[in-house]
Amino acid sequence: MEKIIVSPRGARRWRRGHPWIYRSDVERSDAAPGVVRAEDTHGNFLGQALWSPPSEISLRFLTSQEAPVDGDWWHDRMAEALAVRDPENLDATGYRIVHAEGDSLPSLIVDKYGEIVVVQLLSAGLEAVRGQVLAAIDTVVNPKSILLRNDASVRRHEDLPLEVEEIRGPIPEFVEVREGAVRYLVAPHTGQKTGCFLDQRENRVLMAGVAHGRALDLFTYQGLFALQMARRAESVVAVDSSAAALEVAAKNAELNGLDNLEWVEANVFDLLREYEREGRQFDTIVLDPPAFARQRSAIDRALRGYKEINLRAMRILAPKGTIFSASCSFHIGRDRFFEMLISAASDSGRRLVLQEITGQSRDHPRILTVPETGYLKAAVLRAVD
Ligand code: SAH
Repeated sequence: MEKIIVSPRGARRWRRGHPWIYRSDVERSDAAPGVVRAEDTHGNFLGQALWSPPSEISLRFLTSQEAPVDGDWWHDRMAEALAVRDPENLDATGYRIVHAEGDSLPSLIVDKYGEIVVVQLLSAGLEAVRGQVLAAIDTVVNPKSILLRNDASVRRHEDLPLEVEEIRGPIPEFVEVREGAVRYLVAPHTGQKTGCFLDQRENRVLMAGVAHGRALDLFTYQGLFALQMARRAESVVAVDSSAAALEVAAKNAELNGLDNLEWVEANVFDLLREYEREGRQFDTIVLDPPAFARQRSAIDRALRGYKEINLRAMRILAPKGTIFSASCSFHIGRDRFFEMLISAASDSGRRLVLQEITGQSRDHPRILTVPETGYLKAAVLRAVD
């Protein structure tokens, strides 16, 4: 096996529990991408890792054991990841099986939608062992079909092509899955991420129990929060700027026999201003915007955006109303998110109980020493006045 030498700084990083070693901490090597043996500058074995020569992240730690990382190894790790999800007791047929670094399987995403599995291989090192990885998924999960959604833009940093590939088809345009009492459609080929936003699964079910009166779902995508809330609320207005997403949302409403939803194609920023001017009020509001800060440099602007929509939502919240507010920007940590909420609450003049603090669903595990594995922050706020 090829050997890569890691600097003392890189080795320290691993010992502290972070799986990434950057290019500046490895000795140059012309080893081909794949699984390599990592050693410190004294020749001590550090572990085995995925080697990605084109990437800024050169090494992604797999194991500190010497046993070969072969087909059996991937099989066992896949079985562990699946067992942790406890699918028999999960009240959903769409869920994440592997959350990359969060499951100690760096750069690998595996999502299950009913009998279909959607996979992303997000590093050159992982791509090099794709045969073993896909075989492990096949044996452990035993899906009817497998789709590779390798069109994620991070693959550019790895010099990998962006492509969607049916490993075993046929894969229909839409697959139906269930989340609690709601059924919905996922488009594996074209939907966002691997088809939908599984990270909000538990929060959506949470809101199914909280929603009341007139509900408003902002940034609804294919309507999943709206559908959950529609079972309890009198009516739901759901907003997104994407007409294509709303088309699927409307199909989803039909699938569930729900007729108390209204789909509105609009820019949330403009619409909130309009609702405020018109004096419209809502009893339950969900705010699930896209990541406003995709880079560190965008943090300030993003915070202004988050604050604006939160402040306006607080202003149009009916007395005793409830807001669910989320941010999926990794660069905006929990503290900043809450500072933003506090500042919006204080400007709005509303008195809000912090009813619940939540984050990404449990099938998107966060590792304490790997901040990148946790990105979604959310709060349920209840107006006292
Ligand atoms: N709440 C959804 C996920 C939302 S993803 C769920 O649980 O599945 C973010 C959505 O925001 C996308 O569908 C995108 O089309 C929409 N969007 C982005 N900017 C917007 C804007 N300014 N106004 C309205 N919708 C916007």
